Amino acid sequence: MAKIFCVANQKGGVGKTTTTVNLAAGLAKIGQRVLMVDLDPQGNATMGSGVDKRNLAVSVYEVLVDSVPVREAAQLAEKCGYHVVGANRELAGAEIELVQLPQREMRLKNALAKVDGDYDFVLIDCPPSLSMLTLNGLCAAHGVIVPMQCEYFALEGVTDLVHTIKQVHANLNPDLQIIGLLRVMFDPRTTLQQQVSDQLKSHFGDKVFSTVIPRNVRLAEAPSYGLPGVVFDPLAKGSQAFIAFAQEMVERVQSMNKTARTQATKTKKSVKTASNG
Ligand code: ADP
Ligand code: MG
Repeated sequence: MAKIFCVANQKGGVGKTTTTVNLAAGLAKIGQRVLMVDLDPQGNATMGSGVDKRNLAVSVYEVLVDSVPVREAAQLAEKCGYHVVGANRELAGAEIELVQLPQREMRLKNALAKVDGDYDFVLIDCPPSLSMLTLNGLCAAHGVIVPMQCEYFALEGVTDLVHTIKQVHANLNPDLQIIGLLRVMFDPRTTLQQQVSDQLKSHFGDKVFSTVIPRNVRLAEAPSYGLPGVVFDPLAKGSQAFIAFAQEMVERVQSMNKTARTQATKTKKSVKTASNG
């Protein structure tokens, strides 16, 4: 069964796309079967995986609006080792078209259900807004990864996102949880960043991933070569951090599965006790 994660933060330029493609490549490197779904009409995650957004035979738009199967849309990003369902400007129109369709928030979830056995991880790169597209991502996912820069207003932005995630959890997707906050573009020499990082840890506890992604120019250069940093320069500090993050994600998923199994056993036992008594 695939574990599905959204990479979301309604702010632009915080490192969502960089996180999505590098985590995808990192997971692929350690032997995981990965599908990356680009839900941003800018198509940066598509291009950043070496897939040309201008020549997509089938994009995520057709998956969402015309119910074209994910298997027809997914293509292998050869150098990266994962599959891509790409996006381009056409997707901007989906926002309006989706509103009129049945099960408008569940279209990505329903589409992904059919490839559940094909992947270990599905990563969804969300646009910088809390739109119908992001909502489709949140409804499809088991969890949200929130990349954030340790800057002054960072906490405020996260509060809004936490609120949205709680609402989606309550009304549309009871599986949804914040898997973790990922500190990105981190510069340990900056006192303010250290302070915000400490604040984050005291506020969110172990929801803050222990891996920290440093600011690293190789990660910023990689997209112009159509590659995630992890593939472009695997030895760069930023790439190494993303490989460590991939490992941390695998461990989180293992502990998520363990918790789910324990809960299932508990429920079974209590049902048994109830029916015996
Ligand atoms: P978003 O998807 O949230 O808009 P991006 O991932 O596109 O954000 O990142 C915004 C910019 O910051 C991009 O130019 C990207 O290359 C750069 N960037 C992201 N993470 C890092 C990092 N760790 N070090 C240096 N530059 C980074
Ligand atoms: Mg982006």
